[in-house]
Order: sequence, then structure tokens, then C-alpha cells
Amino acid sequence: MAKKAPRKKLPKEVAIINADNCTGCESCLEVCPVDCIVKIEQYPTMGGLQSWCEIDLDRCVGCEVCVHIPQKKTNPYELTVCPWDAIEMVPTEKCHEVVSQIGGPPEYIHEHWDRLVGTAFHLAELKANG
Ligand code: SF4
Ligand code: SF4
Repeated sequence: MAKKAPRKKLPKEVAIINADNCTGCESCLEVCPVDCIVKIEQYPTMGGLQSWCEIDLDRCVGCEVCVHIPQKKTNPYELTVCPWDAIEMVPTEKCHEVVSQIGGPPEYIHEHWDRLVGTAFHLAELKANG
């Protein structure tokens, strides 16, 4: 994998998917401009949950495009992307707390703790330290 370049500016908020609500429909994945949403498919030990999506927080730029489609300010209607309301924008300083709670089935989070929660914690710390 190519080495990630350090980011110039940390986003105020990042997107986090509530794995419990996500069906893996890929609608969000198709609209993300930086291609940082990935689908986790049929993880072997996860009972009923067949697939869900997760966001690489190291690359999320907080643009909210996966939550609602940008449109003219004069348009009063919001066009949301996720049919299951599974994506939320979370303050970057708190992203590790939210990822650890809803970012995947508990066993999955536990198994991938460093990559998921560790990455989010590092990002949160960077943001908190300005
Ligand atoms: S907020 Fe923007 S960059 Fe982040 S996952 Fe959503 S669409 Fe991608
Ligand atoms: S649009 Fe919603 S349900 Fe579909 S993959 Fe994205 S988070 Fe999951």
C-alpha cells in the first residue's frame, strides 16, 4: 500500500458509520470523494451481521458528502445518502470514543482495536493538541 502523506489540516468532524444500522449497501462508498469508505464483508465470526462499511478516519476529510448530497442553499430539502441513517459526523476530538462504541460488532472492534480505535485516538489527540 502507498504510504499516506501527512494531512495539512485536520477536519473538525469526521464521519463514523454505526455498523449496527449499516446494511453494506455501498451508497456512501460511491459518493466519498477521497474513497475512504471500505466494505467489510461476511466477517467469519459475526453472527447475523453479514456486511457493513467502515471509514478510514486517517483519510476522511469531514466533507459530509456521505451524509447529505451538497446542493444549492436555496433548496429546502435535504438529500440524505444513507437509507438507514447509519452515518454520523462526530467531532474529531471524540472520534475514538464513538468508533469504540459503534464502529463495528464488539468482537470485531476488539480484534481490530489498534487499527480502528488506535487510529481514531491518534487523530483525536492531534486535533486536541491543535
Ligand atoms: S465525510 Fe467526506 S471524506 Fe469523510 S467518509 Fe464522508 S464523504 Fe468521505
Ligand atoms: S449508505 Fe448507509 S447502509 Fe449503505 S453502506 Fe453506507 S452506511 Fe451502510
